[in-house]
Amino acid sequence: MRPLIELSIPYDSPRDLKVFLDAYGLGMRKQFGQNFLINPRARTKLIKALDTAQGDEVWEVGPGLGAMTAELLEQGATVQAFEIDPGFIGILKALFGAHPRFSLVEGDVLKTWRHAGGGAYLLGNLPYTIAARLLAVLIEENRLFTRMVVTVQREVALRMSAAPFSKDYSSFSVLCASAYTVTPLMVLKGASFYPAPHVDSQGVRLDLRTDVDPRSYPSCFKPLVRRLFSSRRKTLKNNLQSFISSGIMKDRAKAAAQDILDRCGISEDRRAETLRPEDFIALAGAVEELQCGA
Ligand code: SAM
Repeated sequence: MRPLIELSIPYDSPRDLKVFLDAYGLGMRKQFGQNFLINPRARTKLIKALDTAQGDEVWEVGPGLGAMTAELLEQGATVQAFEIDPGFIGILKALFGAHPRFSLVEGDVLKTWRHAGGGAYLLGNLPYTIAARLLAVLIEENRLFTRMVVTVQREVALRMSAAPFSKDYSSFSVLCASAYTVTPLMVLKGASFYPAPHVDSQGVRLDLRTDVDPRSYPSCFKPLVRRLFSSRRKTLKNNLQSFISSGIMKDRAKAAAQDILDRCGISEDRRAETLRPEDFIALAGAVEELQCGA
């Protein structure tokens, strides 16, 4: 490997990036969803959307060769980066290892994030292989951020921001909306990346909701949402009945399901894809009340 002292990385040029990667013996690995964002305006827009102040702590997921890391550090952020690729890790250490506001967590972020502290903000041009899974697990386990700005496949972005009645509305949409205000940002065509993927991507901004405390939802909220979406052909009442049926008689479960729906003012023949996130929260509250009172 060449000495890394005068390392200057051609972040914006696919041709020069390829020369750089070849020179340092670095390959691009499909299984790690590696597509560098070579569009400098897009990088700057995403960082602007994160809107951090001097000293704010940012988790950067998948920094790659550090194009966005450099910009975040320049803006005064404290960056904790999560990277899995040993070759990129070597480059990141050479570039930023001595920087007092930079630290690196090596390995699979799906495993390492639980041991990492700090971080009120999250930025990531997320590897498509783990994007939805990572966002879901962070929300499900209440690892919440003041703001996240991520780039994901467009179809994932559509699911994240989908409203009731839309074909993209799913349990993942409800999960995202239960904790964050989700704002779609710019669509990025394949040419914004190296290598260019065949699908479009999109930036998404997620601002932590302040009108509710997402940490205070009943513990059954997330499993209930998943269950109500899992059998889409069944009516809400039938799904709700099977959700609460463990440990109580079938007839009682039927009556209880009706009672919960009545209390929430939701008609029994509605389907999950027509309910607003607030409706799911109300249903979970009523289920919890019933189970505590049972
Ligand atoms: N941030 C860079 C950019 O925008 O050009 C690279 C983004 S690239 C889409 C995704 C990055 O995530 C790669 O650096 C890849 O090695 C890293 N990565 C993939 N899977 C990962 C995982 N499970 N944990 C941590 N990093 C991962």
